[in-house]
Amino acid sequence: MIGRIVLVVLTLLLLSAPSFVGGQSSISNSDIGCHSEGAARPKNLAQGELREESRDPSLPLRMTAQQTENAIAIIASGVEVDFPAQAVFTLEAESRSDIIDVRLRYRVDKMKYAEVVSEGWASFSPATRIEAEWVWDMRNASLPPGAEVTYWWTIEDTDGNTFETSPEVMCFNDARYLWQSLTSSGFLAEWQTYQGDALTIFWYEGDDSFARELMDTCEEGLVRLTEDIGTYPERPIRMYIYASTEDLRGAMIFPQEWTGGVAYTEFSIIAIGIPPARLSWGKRALIHELTHLVVHQATFGPYGRLPTWLDEGLAMHNEGELEPHLGSRLEKAISDDELISVRSLCSPFSAEPDQAYLSYAQSYSLVEYLLDNHGKTRMLDLLSILKQGSTYDDALTDVYGFDMDGLDANWRATLSGPAVPGWPTWLQPAVITVLGALATGLAVRYVLRKRTCRRSSAK
Ligand SMILES: [Zn+2]
Repeated sequence: MIGRIVLVVLTLLLLSAPSFVGGQSSISNSDIGCHSEGAARPKNLAQGELREESRDPSLPLRMTAQQTENAIAIIASGVEVDFPAQAVFTLEAESRSDIIDVRLRYRVDKMKYAEVVSEGWASFSPATRIEAEWVWDMRNASLPPGAEVTYWWTIEDTDGNTFETSPEVMCFNDARYLWQSLTSSGFLAEWQTYQGDALTIFWYEGDDSFARELMDTCEEGLVRLTEDIGTYPERPIRMYIYASTEDLRGAMIFPQEWTGGVAYTEFSIIAIGIPPARLSWGKRALIHELTHLVVHQATFGPYGRLPTWLDEGLAMHNEGELEPHLGSRLEKAISDDELISVRSLCSPFSAEPDQAYLSYAQSYSLVEYLLDNHGKTRMLDLLSILKQGSTYDDALTDVYGFDMDGLDANWRATLSGPAVPGWPTWLQPAVITVLGALATGLAVRYVLRKRTCRRSSAK
C-alpha cells in the first residue's frame, strides 16, 4: 500500500515538473509595448576593451521553455559609455549550433505613461561562438547625464534554443569630469516622500561651500514651494552643475544657443552651467529649473500640459523678488498699454529678447495675482485639473470662476492706473507718440554730436 502511495506521489511530481517550467516561461514581456530602434552601424571597437563583466552569479538567468541545459552560454557582456554621443553594448556567447539572432532589449528609467521596452538588433556573424555589438546612437535618444537604462540580451540558435540574460543597469554618466556629490540632509521626511536622498548635487569645480550654498538654496526653495503652492518632489532629484555654459553645451547633442540650464522632467535630472564666480546668479537659475521640475512631476500625465505663463510664472515666483530689469519692462508695458494677452502667453514665448522679457515679467505678475488674491489651495486645484487634461479656460473657470479673458481683465484691473494721470485716455497714445518722437529726435542729435566730437578728437 505504502509503495503504491509513493509511486503515485512520484508520478504526480514527475508530471508536475514540466508544467512548472512551462509556468515560469510564461513570464515574458509580451504585454509590454515594443518599438524597434533597428540595427545600428557597428563602431570600430576593440573587443574586450573597457568591458565590464556583467554576469552576477547571484542573479539567476531567466530561461525559456525551449532552453535545454547549457545550449547557449554567455562568455561576457558589457557596455562602454561614450558620453554624450553613444553607448556600445557588447556580448560574447556560444552554443552547440550557430547563433543566428542576438538582440539587446532596454528600458529607460523615467516617468512614463506606459512601460516601453525598446530593441536593438546586434551586428555579428552567425557562428557557434559570436561577438555581438549594438551601438546606441544618442542622436535618437538625448539621454541626460546620470540617466539609467535597464538592459538584457536575447539570443537564439539554429536549433531553436533561446536565452535571455538577467537585467543589468547602464548608467549614462558624464565621465569627462571628476564629479563630487552632496546629498540633502533628509529634511523632506515630514513630507512622507523620498527621505534623505531627495536632492543630490553633482559638481566638479568649486569647493564644498559652493555646493553647500547651492544645496541650501534648493532646500529653502523646496520648502517655499510646498508652503506657497503645495507641491513637493515625488522622485529623488539629481542636479549636475557644470562649471560653465560651454561645458553644459558639451554635454548635449543638440545644444541651443541660449541653453543655460535644462530640467529633464521625466528623468528628475537637472543639468545647468554655474561658474563658481557667478554663484548668486546660479542660485536663482537653479531654483528656477528645480521649480519647473517639481511642478512638472506634480502635473505629469498623458493629457495635461501647463500654459507657458503658469509654468514660467511659478518658476519665477519661487526665485523670489522679480529682477529689477524685468520689473521696469513690465511697468513700461503697462504705461505704454502694450501688455501681451494671457491667451498669447499660453504658447512658447517669443525668441525676441524684449518680448521674451515682458512675457516672463507678466507671467510672474499673473502668478503673484492668483496666489495673493486666491491662495495656494486654488493654485494646487488648478494644477491638478490641468493634469487631468482640462482646457485652460475650463480649468480656470472651474477653480476661479473666470476664464483666460477674465483672468486678463481682473489682473489688469489690479495694475497701476493710467500712464499719464489726469489726461483723457484717448489722448494718451497721441501724447506718448509725440513725446516719443521728441525724445528720439533729441537722442539722435545727441548721438550725432557725440560721434562728431569723438571723430574730431581722434584726429
Ligand atoms: Zn523657465
